[in-house]
Order: sequence, then structure tokens, then C-alpha cells
Amino acid sequence: MKDVHSPDLPVYTPQSDECEVFETAHANGLPLLLKGPTGCGKTRFVEHMAARLGRPLYTVACHDDLSAADLIGRYLLKGGETVWVDGPLTRAVREGGICYLDEVVEARKDVTVVLHPLTDDRRRLVIDRTGEDLPAPEGFMLVASYNPGYQNILKKLKPSTRQRFLSIGFDFPQPDTEIGIVAAESGLDRARAGALVRLAGHIRTLSGMDLEEGVSTRLLIYAASLIAGGMKVERALEAAVIEPLSDEADVQQALRDLAASVY
Ligand code: ADP
Repeated sequence: MKDVHSPDLPVYTPQSDECEVFETAHANGLPLLLKGPTGCGKTRFVEHMAARLGRPLYTVACHDDLSAADLIGRYLLKGGETVWVDGPLTRAVREGGICYLDEVVEARKDVTVVLHPLTDDRRRLVIDRTGEDLPAPEGFMLVASYNPGYQNILKKLKPSTRQRFLSIGFDFPQPDTEIGIVAAESGLDRARAGALVRLAGHIRTLSGMDLEEGVSTRLLIYAASLIAGGMKVERALEAAVIEPLSDEADVQQALRDLAASVY
């Protein structure tokens, strides 16, 4: 396992004991579900842990057209011949790597049929098309994320699926941690990063009322990068916070008022 401070690891500031939970899950061959709002560090966390454990990482951004074949693989025509091409999940199983299914609830239903035998004590990937039945080797781990904040009743994770995963709840980092992250990722000084995080704190108390979700750490880093590059704060906030968060003029105005009260 790599040293946590190795310079070639993707930088990740832990929020709590999530690195230890991930490591233990990996050592025990257990799948892990990361729950939390968009842009709060889930993907970076998985990238960091995969590098730390020295495992290849296959990330799949799930969408409503994503099928089991997209994960497992398919026969493709190559130079007049039909050849089998492994999908990212199959590659991860063969190599003992980590497969990260980002926003897994978005995927089509047939995906869960593939995941179930991989996420219980069978730990097998069945590939109907090739007749293979692959046992997942030591080192293979399935990680999935989903955002429970979206109020989409049709797209909840079924208990029969979610109860196969260990779960970690993510949220936006504590202010002091978030200031450090925003400053480090953008190059903006801590004082100005602090003002952005303060604004985020106010905006996040509004989410659920007028906003579907609070401003993400990712957007704060965008705003900070624009400001660090010399853009005026108001312009940066408009492009990186206000426009991305809402299309409604009255909500945008409320966000501008909030920003004016912080700056
Ligand atoms: P998610 O997968 O939850 O949507 P990401 O992992 O893509 O979010 O995070 C968005 C960005 O925020 C990352 O690219 C990184 O710059 C930054 N970030 C968020 N949390 C952390 C953290 N704990 N440590 C380091 N960077 C972070």
C-alpha cells in the first residue's frame, strides 16, 4: 500500500474515518456505497483510495441508458471478425481492480441483476454471452455512489440492492476543511476561500426550499479558480455559483442578495 502522503496520490482531505472504512471493506471484499450530494468529494475519494491501495480503477458514470452489456462487454465487429470486448466491470474483475459506478440509480434495471451475484458471498460475475463465470479475485471491489437528495421516487435504490453494500454518508466538509480544500485546489488564499465557504454555508441552509441542492465544493473551487485568475468576485460568483444553481430569476436574485451580505 502507498504512503498516504505520496506525491502521486490524488489529493484527498478526509472528512472523518472514511479512508479506514474503505480500506477495511476492501480487505474483506465487501462492496461500498457512497451516499451524498454532488460535488462533495466522492469521486476524488475513490481515486485516492484506489491509488493508495495500488489497484486499477474503472469509473463508470451511470445514465438512464446504461445497460448490463455496457458494464460487462459485448461482441464487436473488428476487421471483419467478431471479437469479444470486456466492459469496465469485467476488466475490474479480471484484474482485481476497483469498479466505481457513479450515480448507480440512474442505470437500467438489468444492471442490478449483474451486481447482485457480485455483491454477496458468491462474488461472481456471470457473462452469459461468453459462457464465463468469473470468481472475483482478492483485490476486486465494487464501489457505487448515489445522491439521496434528489427527490425522485422512481429512482430510489431498492432495499434488495442497497442492503448488499456497506454505506458511508458524505456531506459537504466542515468549513475549516472546506476552506483548505478550496484554497489548495484553486490556489486562492485562505481568506478569500473562507468568504466563499461562508457564502456556501448560507446557500446550503436555503437548499430544499428554493434550491434543489446547495452549492457544491466543486462549484466553490470553480469560483475560487476564476477569482485567483483575476476575475472580479461578482462576475465569478455569477458564472460559478448563481447561474449553475438556478434558472429562476427570483432565486438568482436571492442568491445575489446573499452574496452581497457576505462580501
Ligand atoms: P462527487 O464525486 O461527490 O460529485 P468530486 O469528487 O468530483 O465530487 O469532487 C469535486 C471536486 O471537489 C474534486 O475534483 C476536488 O477538486 C474537490 N474536493 C471535494 N472534496 C475534496 C476532498 N475531501 N479533498 C480534496 N478535494 C476535494
